[in-house]
Amino acid sequence: MRTFVTVLVSLTLFLSINLPGQQLSPDYFQKNIEVYFSFEASSHELVQELTNVISIDNIKGTTVYAYANENEYNEFLSYNIAHTILRKPGELIIPEMSDNIDEITDWNIYPTYDGYVNMMMQFAANHPSICKLVDAGNTVQGRKILLVKISDNVDVREAEPQFLYTSSIHGDETTGYVLMLRLIDSLLTTYGTNPRITNMINNAEIWINPLANPDGTYHGGNNTVNGATRYNANGYDLNRNFPDPVNGVHPNQQQETAVFRNLAEQNNFVLCANFHGGTEVVNYPWDTWTSGYPDYVSHADDNWYQFISHLYADTCQAHAPSNYMNGYDDGITNGGAWYVIHHGRQDYMNWFMKSREVTIEISDTKLLPASQLPAHWEYNKRSFLNYIESILYGVRGIVTDTADHPLNAIVKVLNHDTLHSEIRTDSLNGNYHRMLAPGVYSLQFTAEGHFPQTINNVVVNNFQTTVLNVQLIPNFIPVELVSFSAETNGNNVELKWRTATEKNNTGFEIERTSPRPSPYQGEGVPTWRDGRGWEIIGFVQGYGTTTEPKSYFFSDKDVSSGFYQYRLKQIDLDGSFVYSNIIEIEVEVPIEFSLEQNYPNPFNPSTKIKFTIPFVETHRDASLLVILKVFDVIGNEVATLVNEEKPAGSYEVDFNIHSGKGRNLVSGIYFYQLKSGIFTETRKMILVK
Ligand SMILES: [Zn+2]
Repeated sequence: MRTFVTVLVSLTLFLSINLPGQQLSPDYFQKNIEVYFSFEASSHELVQELTNVISIDNIKGTTVYAYANENEYNEFLSYNIAHTILRKPGELIIPEMSDNIDEITDWNIYPTYDGYVNMMMQFAANHPSICKLVDAGNTVQGRKILLVKISDNVDVREAEPQFLYTSSIHGDETTGYVLMLRLIDSLLTTYGTNPRITNMINNAEIWINPLANPDGTYHGGNNTVNGATRYNANGYDLNRNFPDPVNGVHPNQQQETAVFRNLAEQNNFVLCANFHGGTEVVNYPWDTWTSGYPDYVSHADDNWYQFISHLYADTCQAHAPSNYMNGYDDGITNGGAWYVIHHGRQDYMNWFMKSREVTIEISDTKLLPASQLPAHWEYNKRSFLNYIESILYGVRGIVTDTADHPLNAIVKVLNHDTLHSEIRTDSLNGNYHRMLAPGVYSLQFTAEGHFPQTINNVVVNNFQTTVLNVQLIPNFIPVELVSFSAETNGNNVELKWRTATEKNNTGFEIERTSPRPSPYQGEGVPTWRDGRGWEIIGFVQGYGTTTEPKSYFFSDKDVSSGFYQYRLKQIDLDGSFVYSNIIEIEVEVPIEFSLEQNYPNPFNPSTKIKFTIPFVETHRDASLLVILKVFDVIGNEVATLVNEEKPAGSYEVDFNIHSGKGRNLVSGIYFYQLKSGIFTETRKMILVK
């Protein structure tokens, strides 16, 4: 099913046998960053192993073409595999060069490095309303990694899908470099007149990086692309240098890789492609896996990937000579089915960034003669646009919370997505864009702190857009206190409050400030004259988590007269807390002593006795000694109910014959007497057993 797979017979017919190490002069790697060579692969297992050792570039039949730096080459030599040193593709021709923008825009010449940088600046200068130059960072040798961003309202990040083209991460694969410059020029100069291009620019953000590895491309100097290398200036293949789904971060991550990762992380590229040369094929994920030949590990969107890859290749085939981009599976291939690579950019973008990225090889010749560039533009120009336009199709929308704030959400297609294939919204605007093969899907939207939401029966057709905006409901329910009030009932202060919702609510501590010492306060607490603080007088358990309204009640009993403040301290399960507002209430001051008739009377076994103590200014803290005792008919004391200093207020005490001294009382008449200050009053009560 794939070229390589069908020819898996171990042939031992070598075209040329080269013993390891005999081809290169001892000082080769002092003058060269990389070596290009070919060898016969005896098995897929060997290729699988060697892809971790050298940079495999292509496989034709059983012949493997590869690059290596000095360390990689030395490791390869240890395998004792006969191989042929080849002339480096970047040294095969001496291309025509120009630093003149007018000449470059004839598009049949390569720009010098300075010509390239000037041209990129010129794009932005000539079309400031739709084009912005982005300097993403520098290479190892200090050249610039440049992009243009093309969109309406180009200075604003709108709720539009972000698209990315990048070329020539392999510095000696230069066709895409010039074609990307020409694409930028074409987009900018036809905006407003070509309705299709105008629509793309109005509804997407198109980012284009013509040259991802300028140190490699201009290895021969800024004025020529002759001598271009695949690797960067440190001798690393940048397309084997990204974080890998299997192997993780590359141990020697290069500066160029860091620049690109930073760019990818700051944006939310929905659809991307990176252009290469050396063959002609659209390569789609995954690159890092096969589950064993001839099977490969499919991306969840394999159908869509094959569709969009064929769309690209088929359109090229329709506008090119019959042998252009028609190999492999009619111009497309799964990456791992062709040959496995690790640490490639395509899988990084798919796996880690949740983008959709393919690798497009657009010329069999890596360093294409400049005169052939216009023809390759003709082959590819429609496909360039088709591919960009695909970003506008599928399911798109905005994910917000109930207050319309954009959400950083994950959009997952249920019973479909696997291996990181779900996508993310742009956290800035909440927009998402999910391209899918035709079908009926269930989309699940999840965001931290919100209830997930699933939308069923979402219909997707080719070249159509389904808009689906989603609001997610927060699952973080604060303890929402909707009322808190106090009222007096005799000598009690009754507090009432209600909650609308509760989340992790342990309960409420009731706190108050009082004008006088209280039993809730410990030693050394200053008196009210010194500014008495908050004291905890009780606790009411909460309901934990609920969306039902709840009512609460607390009675602060036997409160003496004066002004009081109350507040609630709502405590979460994790110990964090918030205070309610403070409410103030006055407990009325009795104006005279009184002793009321007990109730019930007659009684058995208990009865209540109420009395009032007025405010008397004479005492230090305005409290008076209060004594309430019970006597039998012949004057024997049978119980002391109160014997302490009490502030002014209304009081109620219980007398129970089953407790205290009243335990052995017989039926009959008893007297209770209140003494406080100059006041003495005695009343009669009857016990009937
Ligand atoms: Zn390449």
